Amino acid sequence: MKPAVFTPQEPIERWVARVVRDDIRRLQPYSVAESSGMIKLDAMENPHELPPALRAQLGEIASAAPLNRYPDPAAVALKAALRAYMQVPDAMEIVLGNGSDEIIQLLALGCARPGGTMLGVEPSFSMYPLIARVCGLQFVGVPLCADFSLDADAMVAAIERHRPALVFLAYPNNPTGNLFDAAAIEHIVRAAPGLVVIDEAYHPFAQVSFMARLQEFPNLVLMRTLSKLGLAGLRLGLLIANPAWTVQFDKLRLPYNVNVLSQAVATRVLQSAHVLAAQAAAIRAERSRLAARLQGMAGVQVYPSQANFLLLRVAAAAATYDSLKASGILVRNLAGGHPALADCLRVTVGTTAENDAFLASLAASLRLSSHA
Ligand SMILES: *Cc1c(COP(=O)(O)O)cnc(C)c1O
Repeated sequence: MKPAVFTPQEPIERWVARVVRDDIRRLQPYSVAESSGMIKLDAMENPHELPPALRAQLGEIASAAPLNRYPDPAAVALKAALRAYMQVPDAMEIVLGNGSDEIIQLLALGCARPGGTMLGVEPSFSMYPLIARVCGLQFVGVPLCADFSLDADAMVAAIERHRPALVFLAYPNNPTGNLFDAAAIEHIVRAAPGLVVIDEAYHPFAQVSFMARLQEFPNLVLMRTLSKLGLAGLRLGLLIANPAWTVQFDKLRLPYNVNVLSQAVATRVLQSAHVLAAQAAAIRAERSRLAARLQGMAGVQVYPSQANFLLLRVAAAAATYDSLKASGILVRNLAGGHPALADCLRVTVGTTAENDAFLASLAASLRLSSHA
């Protein structure tokens, strides 16, 4: 007997439109530029590899890992290693995420009451508004001042008006690279009726933190990640907060969100914290050198950065981006996004050789355009 031919009642596009949420269909997919063979200065990755001896040990750990078993859902060993490494206060608890992107999602999901609001600043990390909307929260972005500092009065006014369930502040901020004034943040924490999340993704390069101050404010929580430190491929981020908060968000976490290999490898790498510390120090030193060289270039404005990237303004960002790309260097073109970032590029601090290649290509591109 021949199987009956299935005849759909409608074209598949119409079917998708009927089933999938309208707002999801309207979303632009998060796009990552193709980078094979390029000098990759677009994603704030650590350009340094781990030492060969440590990599060999990680190979042994991976080969011995029980891949047939589910991971430890409580990740006891990894949490203990993170606690020691990050000096998490004893009174605080940790929730692990598959990157801190997942932590943002847990926070948004857990707080998304109908009509609720997430508040942030603009320009800042693009995941905050994206995740807010997908989780059903309205996103309110308060503009930063012209020098990218916090407008504390505008923030407090917006907090009073919108009563946000969540306020997100990246410290240092991405893509501007600066640290907000701690007193202004404290002011916002005191004014907020909900949670204030300080996202310390760039802590290794700024070396200042609200960690020791978590106990002062019941509504203050922190996010950290191992991504910018040098383990972006493991996907490991964390929420550090009073257990009264973490017990709630931990219920939303999928039980095995941090896999066996990530847990075992991260735990071992954290035992060699000196390696990560030395790499972060090298990146900070390169940041200073790169910033000084860029400051000496006509036609380039460099903003102060406490992160592992620099924000630049040039005369024609799109042309400069294309010209860098043609010479094999990938940076991030921020023009076309927020108006405050017109003609801005963001460049991750690479190795000395990568940064020199970037500087040479940038100089060549600026020379060409000034003769055009
Ligand atoms: C890169 C970045 C993150 C995301 O880090 P993952 O842990 O890799 O998901 C979070 N916040 C800010 C501000 C970032 O720039």
